[in-house]
Amino acid sequence: MSTEPFAMALPEPGANDPVVLDGVRFVNRFTAELPADPEPANRVRQVTGAAFSRVRPTPVAAPRLLAHSPEVAGLLGLDAATVGSQAFAEVFGGNRLPAGADPYAACYGGHQFGNWAGQLGDGRAIALGEMVAPDGSHQTLQLKGAGPTPYSRGADGRAVLRSSIREFLCSEAMAHLGIPTTRALCLVATGDDVVRDMLYDGHPRPEPGAVVCRVAPSFVRFGTFQLPASRQDRDLLRQLVDFTIRADYPHLVGIDSFDGRVGAFFAEVCARSAALVVHWMRVGFVHGVLNTDNLSILGLTIDYGPYGWLENFDPGWTPNTTDAGGRRYRYGAQPQIVHWNLWQLANALVGVVEDPQPLQAALDGYGTLYEEGFNAMMAARLGWGSFAEGDEERLTELFGVLTAAEIDQVLFFRVLARVPAADADGRTDDELLAPLQQVWYRPEDATGPAGTAMVGWLRSWARRVALGGLGDDERRRIMDGLNPRFVLRNYLAQEVIDAAEAGDLSVLHEVADVLRRPYDEQPGRERFAARRPEWARHRVGCSMLSCSS
Ligand code: AMP
Ligand code: MG
Repeated sequence: MSTEPFAMALPEPGANDPVVLDGVRFVNRFTAELPADPEPANRVRQVTGAAFSRVRPTPVAAPRLLAHSPEVAGLLGLDAATVGSQAFAEVFGGNRLPAGADPYAACYGGHQFGNWAGQLGDGRAIALGEMVAPDGSHQTLQLKGAGPTPYSRGADGRAVLRSSIREFLCSEAMAHLGIPTTRALCLVATGDDVVRDMLYDGHPRPEPGAVVCRVAPSFVRFGTFQLPASRQDRDLLRQLVDFTIRADYPHLVGIDSFDGRVGAFFAEVCARSAALVVHWMRVGFVHGVLNTDNLSILGLTIDYGPYGWLENFDPGWTPNTTDAGGRRYRYGAQPQIVHWNLWQLANALVGVVEDPQPLQAALDGYGTLYEEGFNAMMAARLGWGSFAEGDEERLTELFGVLTAAEIDQVLFFRVLARVPAADADGRTDDELLAPLQQVWYRPEDATGPAGTAMVGWLRSWARRVALGGLGDDERRRIMDGLNPRFVLRNYLAQEVIDAAEAGDLSVLHEVADVLRRPYDEQPGRERFAARRPEWARHRVGCSMLSCSS
């Protein structure tokens, strides 16, 4: 008879036990302090009187980490061993929860393409919870593509690899450009297929699925306030405003009256939004879907869908084929569209204040803030120092010159720093044009009327540089800090996607790495700065994107 009948192995950690992510401390203010949807069932419905619905990610077949951002991992205090573990892939693929998480989908509404769309909500995004990062900042971790929620309407709650790669790369590229944005911790392949009709033309096909973990101090959108306002739910609206000010604008909490706090809050949202659009206009980013549910209350770039990067300088350009008819969200319209969206936010906030005047004043101030920000940015990036009299005409002339031919705007501003301004008078036309050789999509334009117009502008630009008083070295340093050499060009993103879909992740990793230092020359990486090749001119994914993702 055995003397050890009771020797039992300790249970293995169960596949369903929460994963302890070392050092990660969840505080979950959003779910702790705002009203929850009382219905536990995860079925599509209208959710009223609540800011969110608790819902868990739907597990996937085979989560596998494809890429991560070392900077975001660092921000969250996640070390390399944690990031490299299988448990990490399982958490961020949605198969297991991290200890302390309180997952939810947020309830919000919005105007889509100018029309009120009613309730939208996180249809495929599930926040795991809000943690306190080692630097003391609060960061919410959100899985995009984690499965259905009560807000999924007719859709599947999933995301395809191509759109997830685009979100992952662009979030981080924007952050490295110094532009406010939601971040991306990681990109996880799910091992499941997702069926999409990429161009909405009746050709659905299965594509590989993926999940991106987005990170931001808040995912609250303009539409978060619009929905309760549209339902005359003042109580919820007031709670959301109060919470957002406390959580995300704590420096305003000391203002005595509620009205005063709301006015200051909205004024700051206006200022942050204006500053954000100035950044977009500088680097040539076109968001593509500036619906009110895609505008962040923190002035972050949020919801990377059919965005694109301006190649030749065309203010009328939009990457979004879904918007091809009206081109509401074209590059040049972004400043006005954001104003329109702020107006909708003000319309919602009016429901909780006694005096709407401060909201109106902030809204009216947006135009001036934007214009001043834009002018200052342009003067600095052109090497002029600050904006001065006569510059408005000089800028108008510049935009005329830039639209007279197909001129790559990223290359143009970058190489302008290399045009010798100090002794421009003693230079021939050819000498002045020489640094600009790469900017012309049709090289013959350089020797035609567009080239002549360019030289004329360069000479007036150089005279203005002299007035600004910056020496060539100092000028170049300032210009190089504002005019990136590397952006996520549309064709580059597509090259990454093509390679990744064929199983090669090296291009993804290399492009992510290039975009870490967008303002550096990075010798040997010229190819990532090249203007769009001809094959990409009309290629789907490069010049044409839809909301199908
Ligand atoms: P977007 O244009 O990405 O901002 O999405 C607009 C709305 O549609 C949001 O409420 C999304 O959550 C929802 N949505 C988009 N794609 C999906 C999807 N595949 N499954 C469920 N909801 C989705
Ligand atoms: Mg959205």
